[in-house]
Amino acid sequence: MYRHLDLILADVKKSIRREFNNLGGMGFDELNVVNTRKVTQSMFDRLLAGNDAAYLKVAKKAYRAAGGTGKVDEEFVGDTLSAFNLVTGYLYFKETERKRLRLSEQILTAREYDDRLTFNASLRKTANLWYTQTAQYGVDIVDAATLKAYKDRGIEYVKWISKDDGKECADCGDRHGKVFKITDVPAKTHYGCRCYLKPAEKE
Ligand SMILES: [Zn+2]
Repeated sequence: MYRHLDLILADVKKSIRREFNNLGGMGFDELNVVNTRKVTQSMFDRLLAGNDAAYLKVAKKAYRAAGGTGKVDEEFVGDTLSAFNLVTGYLYFKETERKRLRLSEQILTAREYDDRLTFNASLRKTANLWYTQTAQYGVDIVDAATLKAYKDRGIEYVKWISKDDGKECADCGDRHGKVFKITDVPAKTHYGCRCYLKPAEKE
């Protein structure tokens, strides 16, 4: 179900590492207030664009895999990202800006104290948080594209599946096998949930 997402995320992880390594290679002499804003802005713009491209790919793949007869496009990805997400509890674009501002602040503080250790730790932490956000919304995109494909096919009921290839989502065990009306599927409740939905008959 999420195999294609995992492949793409591996690439995304590499480019995140590259971006943060580049930033980490900058000297404090370059990172004044104006330049830090500029550098973090363009870095996050690239990170967002990278995610957009990755999400569009996984959305199309998931939609096709679920037998969708229409299409998913940039707008679908944008809408999915813009919706309130119950797992993360935040709005994707607002949170992205928050992460950027926090990082800028941390860079400027580390610079003030000429503290490369704290600087590097901040970069690592932000990179990890960014990856976690990216991966979680990737799951969301796959789920949304799958559900859209089912809806486009006229499927009315879906079954919640918590087990795949021997791996089980322990937190969702009590939902396993339950059938929901497709317009009434409950949201996922935790990070990393890889439960998925299968077309089903009304019980
Ligand atoms: Zn789960």
